[in-house]
Amino acid sequence: MATIKGKPIEEWIRAYPDLGPVLNYTPFFWSNPYVQNQQEGLQNQPLQLADIQNAEERLTRFAPFIATVYPETENTGGIIESPLKKADQIKARIEDITGQEIPGTFYLKLDSHLPISGSIKARGGIYEVLKHAETLLLENQLLSEKDNYRKMAGNKYREFFSQYTILVGSTGNLGLSIGVISAKLGFHVIVHMSADAKQWKKDLLRERGVKVVEHVSDYSKAVEEGRAEAAKDPKSYFIDDENSRDLFLGYTVAAIRLKKQLEEQEIQISPETPMHVYLPCGVGGGPGGVAFGLKVIFGDAVKCYFAEPTHSPCMLLGMMTSMHHTISVQDFGLDNQTAADGLAVGRASGFVGKVMEPLIEGIYTVSDEQMFRLITEMADAEGIHLEPSAVTGLMGPAYVVQNNPEVTEEHIHLIWATGGSMVPDEIKEADYQKGRQYKNNPDAT
Ligand SMILES: *Cc1c(COP(=O)(O)O)cnc(C)c1O
Repeated sequence: MATIKGKPIEEWIRAYPDLGPVLNYTPFFWSNPYVQNQQEGLQNQPLQLADIQNAEERLTRFAPFIATVYPETENTGGIIESPLKKADQIKARIEDITGQEIPGTFYLKLDSHLPISGSIKARGGIYEVLKHAETLLLENQLLSEKDNYRKMAGNKYREFFSQYTILVGSTGNLGLSIGVISAKLGFHVIVHMSADAKQWKKDLLRERGVKVVEHVSDYSKAVEEGRAEAAKDPKSYFIDDENSRDLFLGYTVAAIRLKKQLEEQEIQISPETPMHVYLPCGVGGGPGGVAFGLKVIFGDAVKCYFAEPTHSPCMLLGMMTSMHHTISVQDFGLDNQTAADGLAVGRASGFVGKVMEPLIEGIYTVSDEQMFRLITEMADAEGIHLEPSAVTGLMGPAYVVQNNPEVTEEHIHLIWATGGSMVPDEIKEADYQKGRQYKNNPDAT
């Protein structure tokens, strides 16, 4: 009989009864018993406020370069940031779908509309490439931190970077972000794509001169191949989605930016009337980095929740059992097959799970049918197209209200809409039509 870490599955379920629904692919909300308050939860963490500020300053140094090579960022001065939008219409639809009245105001954080790559990966992925580029130039005395980084758009720099290779393993969006910015700087880029990666993402990268290696297996394998290939060449650099602190730090900067947006829109939060933040989770770096930054900046005035596909709940299994990245969803017999390509990850990051264990309130799962229905509801209600991964945040508020009678009208629900603006029109239409079937036949969800 199959065992996991030497124990039969029945024994795991006896120790963790919440595993029952999770192993049946049933949408489920898990309330994290390990959560602590900000002060306790941020003690002894490997990263601090100074690291986040440092990352933010680096992005500011690069802003003149970004504004030069990406004219669409000119009006933000080369700062890559997404809109924060109030969303009353979708709130009404979610209340209708879930049959749950939800006190509080809905906002969307539209990372789907981040410039350059149209997903949350434009935060971490682009940051790590820029940091690597800066390190190479500093080491070779080609740059000082006081310089205007606009000069990196020049040919001399492109030639310099062309000696170097950047590698990454991805389910799609990370490869897209890293591929696009690396090619712009002049690096050679090799992206190892898992079987889940959408064809249009591969096509777009190839158009930009990126080498795309396709794998028939899943994300963990694509990462492994990228890592192995990079180890053979001293002039190559592997961006390690399963372990990278730089990626994580790139995501944390969102918190500093969001603080400004809340002030501009006069949105007030406090430990008594907090902002609940719903973050789609794959390997964990994106939602983990954003949530970590939020806890550092806002403390107990924010409460964070991760959303995962019912078929790929790697963070949920890892955190619930405290086994973190040492176990995979496949170990527990789950298939890791989902339309949410950004979240199709069977094994969580090696360090994010432990860092986030005391900092998140819960994790819930969302079925593929629910995702397609939400795509259609979102398009109809708000006129915004999101990709399957990116709508999973929407199922969170009803669970939170069911589990917390103290949620009032003063609370904020911030749904992190992580990707979708770059999806080709014909795929948007197909996703929408698929969701319409479920919308017209709610029993199917
Ligand atoms: C990658 C991705 C996520 C999750 O980020 P991880 O770092 O993999 O946890 C969420 N949404 C979208 C659209 C993504 O591409």
